Amino acid sequence: MEAHSRQLWLKSVRTPAILLLTACFLVLVPIRAQAAPFLRMGSTGESVEMLQNTLSALGYYTARVDGIFGPLTDKAVRAFQSASGLVPDGIVGPLTWAALDRVNEVSRGRTGPLRGRLIVLDAGHGGVEPGAISPWGDKEKNFTLGLALKTRRYLEEMGASVIMTRYGDYSPGSDWGYPVDELLARVSIANSNGADIFVSIHNNAYPKDPGVSGVMGFFRSGSYESYTLASKIAWSVNASSGLRMIDVQEGPYYVLNRTYMPAALIEVGFMTNRDDCLRLRLESFQDRVARGIAAGIVDYLGR
Ligand SMILES: [Zn+2]
Repeated sequence: MEAHSRQLWLKSVRTPAILLLTACFLVLVPIRAQAAPFLRMGSTGESVEMLQNTLSALGYYTARVDGIFGPLTDKAVRAFQSASGLVPDGIVGPLTWAALDRVNEVSRGRTGPLRGRLIVLDAGHGGVEPGAISPWGDKEKNFTLGLALKTRRYLEEMGASVIMTRYGDYSPGSDWGYPVDELLARVSIANSNGADIFVSIHNNAYPKDPGVSGVMGFFRSGSYESYTLASKIAWSVNASSGLRMIDVQEGPYYVLNRTYMPAALIEVGFMTNRDDCLRLRLESFQDRVARGIAAGIVDYLGR
């Protein structure tokens, strides 16, 4: 009798409980997907596309590259993780990215003008730090990531190995198991990997005068190499994108001063300028900028 009533109670409580759990899941998952530092089931976008491309080059993923992290991507990630001695949890964080990069490079046998070069690309801001926000709501962190991911593709096509300080919308400092200052994390990634060059990508802002637009390069004070790199990239972006060339200046920035290798920081357009912002929203424009950054790097490293 008691067992029977308990069963009834369970039955009456189960359906609402499942509905409630489902509702929580539906509400929480999209928020997590945006804020989560890692790619996982439900993630979408350019980073997922890049992941699928890599997994497919390695033979783990045979479905369509669509930028959606679904069950097939999940399966491929877990298979890769198992084969690489990682925890097969289907979550793509820095360890999995690093393993993918390593294996991919070996399997490809790179060729091209940048063969043998290691470049660290630094997409400015990320996660809780949006960077500059345009009067129309655009966030700098999204533009810098789009530009960096596209630049990466061009550099790899020319044979370079590229390490990103972040692969998605998170702070580079959030990856280390304990909180690390995000700027220190960016610099450490470049220094500990012994990168040949470090290139940081940002978008400028000048609220006082929304008319100001264009591209600027920044270099480490006193470093001719850093100046040359910044200058070549800025002029090259000017040529590829049509953004007005403003100038190349010394930049008293942590990421320039604390890195050991030639380093440049590039400010691509102004978040406070309507035309610059409208253009930065276009994938085609980001692509032109990325081609310019890559060409400037080839020009510098190919000397
Ligand atoms: Zn910035």
